[in-house]
Amino acid sequence: MPHPDVMDKLVSLCKRRGFIFQSSEIYGGTGSVWDYGPLGVELKKNVKDRWWHAMVRSRDDIEGLDAAILMNPRVWEASGHVSGFTDPLVDCKACKARFRADKLEDARCPRKPSRRPGEHTDCQLTEPRQFNLMFKTFMGPVEESAAVVYLRPETAQGIYVNFLNVQQATRQKVPFGIAQIGKAFRNEITPGNFIFRTREFEQMEMQFFVDPNGDHMQWFEFWKAQRMAWHASLGLQHDRLLFHQHSPEELAHYARAAFDIQFDFGGGLGFQEIEGVHHRGDFDLGRHQEYSGKKLEYFDQPNNRRFVPFVIETSVGADRTTLALLANGYREEAVPGEDEGRVVLGLHPSLAPIKAGIFPLVKKDGMPEFAAKLAGELRPHFPVFYDESGAIGRRYRRQDEVGTPFCLTIDGETMLNGTVTVRDRDSLRQERIAADAVRDYVSARVGNG
Ligand code: ATP
Repeated sequence: MPHPDVMDKLVSLCKRRGFIFQSSEIYGGTGSVWDYGPLGVELKKNVKDRWWHAMVRSRDDIEGLDAAILMNPRVWEASGHVSGFTDPLVDCKACKARFRADKLEDARCPRKPSRRPGEHTDCQLTEPRQFNLMFKTFMGPVEESAAVVYLRPETAQGIYVNFLNVQQATRQKVPFGIAQIGKAFRNEITPGNFIFRTREFEQMEMQFFVDPNGDHMQWFEFWKAQRMAWHASLGLQHDRLLFHQHSPEELAHYARAAFDIQFDFGGGLGFQEIEGVHHRGDFDLGRHQEYSGKKLEYFDQPNNRRFVPFVIETSVGADRTTLALLANGYREEAVPGEDEGRVVLGLHPSLAPIKAGIFPLVKKDGMPEFAAKLAGELRPHFPVFYDESGAIGRRYRRQDEVGTPFCLTIDGETMLNGTVTVRDRDSLRQERIAADAVRDYVSARVGNG
């Protein structure tokens, strides 16, 4: 069950323990932009590594790419973002606040938060206007004569425009895919809910190119299933994941089918999209062919025919997945035999930023030296945290709330026979193992699982 105040709890935990800070906080912050601290950067990197491993490294039919954020502005005309990447907006002339016209139901009047915009007597809402979500900037030394360029609102276009470059360089045959992880920027009107909807975020996208005359619907089903299984493999609870099928009204005009994978974030957010799996037909390559004047056809040599492939896209947010993992893992629980309860971040061991806490039981009798040496030996293999301060119970709690799966304690017996205790974060079970077996023990349990 999701914790009812999970978002507030997470914002505070993430700041306190160095997962996520508000951007430019000393200047009062920047709207919906966040910085990842020492533990957050490890967690998000682990998420991205799991994705890269599943999508690129472990498959021979997907190639990696890292395309630039700034692209020729024509790309965004071809993709439809210049004309169509808009939200309808209304302004309130009284309080100067801006709302999404299609989300007024969920919004609150800043002057009277118990009412919706338009429900307070002073509200003066304008007619809806279209607002483009792309950030613009200038390329070139002199602003007036420089070209307007956009910060990409998605990574996918970098893949489409490189489709033939990658195919020819790697000699991949359709069906095959191209994957990339990168920053995207959207001037969202209603950002919020911590890192759920931000103006700068990271996407992990894969475009799979298939034969329009072949089994493209089977590939669509294949990727739907793969992507759901990936989320479950990260430890997201099964009953908090579901598919949402786009209704005919939600479906883009070119799309053959689209499903979102939703996760139950709890805390007032409920089920929300974390990933989209879309059958985009030949819209993207077709449009780039039209706007660039360059053929983007695949040559099917055995059958001596050319075609523009269909695209099955999987698009997931790295930050949103990170938030899902934090919300999924957060729990408060009583500890048998202790007055104080504990906060646990039940992260999958492969995702935990620190894999093992290493503690000398007391600061004497050679224990700190033994523990520090062990930490030094393990550090090149996985992230460890050495801690000798405070009561042992407190040191365990500090690791529990950042999701560290194992704590190793060096005690009197260690000094006699070279064994240490290994405490499991979830079961609280402790067992003794030889210090020189710890590396293999922890490595075996924190793999990609
Ligand atoms: P939403 O309806 O929530 O704005 P979307 O349908 O516009 O999302 P897509 O364009 O399909 O999203 O992007 C794919 C994924 O990128 C989303 O499932 C989400 O995980 C992530 N994403 C999109 N916009 C944002 C954002 N503003 N902040 C964080 N992640 C985002």
